[in-house]
Amino acid sequence: MENRDVLLKISHLSKTFGKNAVLKDIDFTVKKGDVTCIIGASGSGKSTLLRCINLLETPTTGSILFKDRDIMDKNGDPAAYRAQVGMVFQNFNLFNNMNVIENCTVGQTKVLKKSAEEARKKALYYLEKVGMLPYINAKPRQLSGGQKQRVAIARALSMEPVLLLFDEPTSALDPQMVGEVLDVMKRLAKEGLTMIIVTHEMAFARDVSSHVVFMADGVIEEEGSVSEIFYNPKSFVTKEFLSRFM
Ligand code: ADP
Ligand code: MG
Repeated sequence: MENRDVLLKISHLSKTFGKNAVLKDIDFTVKKGDVTCIIGASGSGKSTLLRCINLLETPTTGSILFKDRDIMDKNGDPAAYRAQVGMVFQNFNLFNNMNVIENCTVGQTKVLKKSAEEARKKALYYLEKVGMLPYINAKPRQLSGGQKQRVAIARALSMEPVLLLFDEPTSALDPQMVGEVLDVMKRLAKEGLTMIIVTHEMAFARDVSSHVVFMADGVIEEEGSVSEIFYNPKSFVTKEFLSRFM
């Protein structure tokens, strides 16, 4: 096993809503530069897991170590942690009253306390990277779904996160726009950005993953390399899930 830096270590994580155990004893580790794809049926707990990782939800039990620090520690600094972990949502969650460049600078100036000039420079750099430079003055409503998602990715990148989470980033897109978003994500993967991606795009997951996690009913049913999960799954549940995409 390669001896790369462990960035995120999740142990015995559970989350219950009332009596509903949505995540049960989840363990997994992310190393720097890993691209982890989380796959699994709707309702299996994928979004809840991502939301626990960026503290949009508080885990019921278990620990999440980020750079060896427990992010739920009473003496920790959740705001500082969140600033290092970005999220891209299915429905973009852009600020609709702001134009494209403002969407990409507001977090930098408000949270990271960067100067307006510095924030603009960073925003332009990342908007260029996702091919959205010609649209900096557009409002989100003037953009297609694929363009909105590329702005959302540029916004997240402008914060220069250590870890970037994606929750079904192409599920709300018309089919002809899926490719442009996946292409951007593939490029980020090649550049070594550490990402955790919840997706139903199996061909994409096969291409980019360094690690695949298959969730079923609140547990990690099986995890491993692309060849282990896609070409040699051990669990019947994994086989059955994957057979739906063949
Ligand atoms: P997935 O993303 O894999 O589709 P989710 O994490 O969204 O799954 O949901 C897993 C389960 O948790 C579902 O049964 C869902 O109804 C439930 N759930 C998610 N969020 C909440 C919440 N805030 N309150 C109650 N139940 C929730
Ligand atoms: Mg979900």
